[in-house]
Amino acid sequence: MCKDVFFKTLARKCMIFCLLCVTALFQVQCSGGKNIAEPFNRESKLSERHAFFDDSWLETVRGNMPLVISAPHGGTISPETIEDRDCGTKVMDNNTAELAFEIKNALEQLDKRPHLIVARLARTKVDFNRNMEQATCGNQQMEYTWHQYHKYIEESIDAAIKEFGYAMYIDLHGQSHAVKRLELGYLLRAPALQENFKSTGNDSEIGTSTSLQNLLENNQRLILKELLTGENAFGTLMEKSGYPAVPSLDDPFPKGGEPYFNGGYNTRRYTSSDYPKVFGMQIEANFTDVRDSEENRIKFANAFTRSVLDYLNFIESNWEY
Ligand SMILES: [Zn+2]
Repeated sequence: MCKDVFFKTLARKCMIFCLLCVTALFQVQCSGGKNIAEPFNRESKLSERHAFFDDSWLETVRGNMPLVISAPHGGTISPETIEDRDCGTKVMDNNTAELAFEIKNALEQLDKRPHLIVARLARTKVDFNRNMEQATCGNQQMEYTWHQYHKYIEESIDAAIKEFGYAMYIDLHGQSHAVKRLELGYLLRAPALQENFKSTGNDSEIGTSTSLQNLLENNQRLILKELLTGENAFGTLMEKSGYPAVPSLDDPFPKGGEPYFNGGYNTRRYTSSDYPKVFGMQIEANFTDVRDSEENRIKFANAFTRSVLDYLNFIESNWEY
């Protein structure tokens, strides 16, 4: 009898132990991100395909100032499961993701934080500075990621406007032209920059086609020539901090034949009349002394911080809300 009771108790303990093990195993499987017990459902399969996305591909920072910086071409993540783009350029802008974060670090020392939208996925897979067709080259796998990137920019712009009434947008890139300087793209080509520099003030025709058009429309006191090549122009402020830039007071427009990027899809999109409280520019940074080492990125970020804060002060003192 005693033996029987002993074995029955042992058997019951075993059963309870096994039950606990099975429950634990089930919980471990369920916590692995994907719920394997989820029943098959055609709709969820379809949205899964459109939502082909990995959080590590995009990095964002929510800011506390009216500055939104995107860096679309500095990503290095290159999954083999995604085909390379077979249209357009695939050149990477080396160290621009790192540069964007150094700018954030420098501003944070003054308790300011810019909004950042930084691509970690390589440009060979998707180009975040093109319309969707050119960005994906028809690869539907990349459509959701492209939309996410732009959704994050829009959310940042919205947050800045809600808090400050406006947003300055910068699309950060890297160039490797022979002349080592920052190329500031205001959506104006060299002849228009030259014409503006030689003019006496606001040229209404040029003013409506620049990435500063919303700023000019809102503020009668601001003059395009001053904003591009005056004492308070962003290029002039950077130049005074030791970083040559075009356009600026000393280098008002690219000279005959010099290659120059005047701004791409993102700059056009986010400074258009669809975003009437946004103005900005594309910055194409040279490599040497700006992006090439951590030490130089930190130096540049400090100079950038001083210049952008002076520039925003100047804008705000003239901004008619
Ligand atoms: Zn680029």
